[in-house]
Amino acid sequence: MEKINKKLIFLDIDGVLNDEKYFETISKKCNSYNSKKEWKQHQINPEKIELLNTVMRVSESNNKSVEIVISSSWRKSTILHDLKYYFTVNGFKFANKITNTTPSSGPIKGLGIRNFINLYKLQYQIEDDIDYVIIDDDQDMLYEQRNNFVHVDNKIGLSVDDVTKIIKILKI
Ligand SMILES: [Mg+2]
Repeated sequence: MEKINKKLIFLDIDGVLNDEKYFETISKKCNSYNSKKEWKQHQINPEKIELLNTVMRVSESNNKSVEIVISSSWRKSTILHDLKYYFTVNGFKFANKITNTTPSSGPIKGLGIRNFINLYKLQYQIEDDIDYVIIDDDQDMLYEQRNNFVHVDNKIGLSVDDVTKIIKILKI
């Protein structure tokens, strides 16, 4: 069987693709949003999306297949199709790579991510460890995930330094 070498990004949204300062800016404009959808759309900072584009471009130019799994609580209220929309309207060029969301896992996010990886490996009959990175401003990950975790500072959101770490962890 052909060996599948997929790499996974577990992506949070709040505190990663937005930050405190960005929220202050958009809150001031709050009254001018016409719908919930429009308000949600503006909660994602296009500058952070561009950093995510950088990661995806690096993977593509090195022929590495990377999929994005949304682990943010947004997944509870937003279907995958709409998540892709919110990313795309903010400049994301790789919406087709957003393939899934993590299962609910109770209070510990790391457990949901572990469950997802186990099921994913079963589904694709992958026996080796897979390369993955968790991008989150929360810290409720598992000890076994410590070397796969990029802890984002929610005061500034995703940064260039984070992107460097992500690329290194994913080996792209
Ligand atoms: Mg968050």
